[in-house]
Amino acid sequence: MNALELTGRSRGHVREISDPHCVLHAQVVAPFQAMRRAAASEGFDLQPASAHRDFERQLTIWNDKFAGRRRLDDAAGAPLEVGTLTAAERVQAILEWSALPGASRHHWGTEMDLIDRRAVAAGRRVELSSAEFAPEGPFAPVAAWLEANAARFGFFRPYRGIRSGVRPEPWHWSFAPVSVGAMRDLGVDVLREAIETAPLAAREVVRERLPELHARYVAGIDWP
Ligand SMILES: [Zn+2]
Repeated sequence: MNALELTGRSRGHVREISDPHCVLHAQVVAPFQAMRRAAASEGFDLQPASAHRDFERQLTIWNDKFAGRRRLDDAAGAPLEVGTLTAAERVQAILEWSALPGASRHHWGTEMDLIDRRAVAAGRRVELSSAEFAPEGPFAPVAAWLEANAARFGFFRPYRGIRSGVRPEPWHWSFAPVSVGAMRDLGVDVLREAIETAPLAAREVVRERLPELHARYVAGIDWP
């Protein structure tokens, strides 16, 4: 992947597939479909609630939260009043729940937030919450199946909450044969270039914190 692909500003590395409908890195399509077939044979309908996301999408989320156009929550999930917060405080709150544009692993097309569509009750919205993946939650069986089987297809969990600077995400799976190299190639300088050339809210705050943010959110993951 080149610098534009690594930071979600080009789509040359990804492919759109129709069943299930999603966008993935070209080299992830076959391994994912193989894993999906294996899961189907055990009764699961394995689908990504989210796969590739581009820089623009992440930038919109970031700028909307900063400006108060989108709900901004504190670390505990309680809504904040943006008007009372400094730029630095808003940045801190955004980072509790959203990736810095350019620094999301979802830009690579190697990442998927996986659910079992069959376990979603009619009319129910998928939230990607820890409760859904807890032992009594609807996605506990598929989470257990993935823990036991995903590695054979090349997938691992980068956000286990052991080493990672991000809260545990039991739904987030990564295709190691491509993502390990992508992470190595997404250096601080690549990220800086993406930040400096985009209309990012609170760019000064981000610029100041960039080495630390890179260490925590890009480099600080749970390895396969
Ligand atoms: Zn994810």
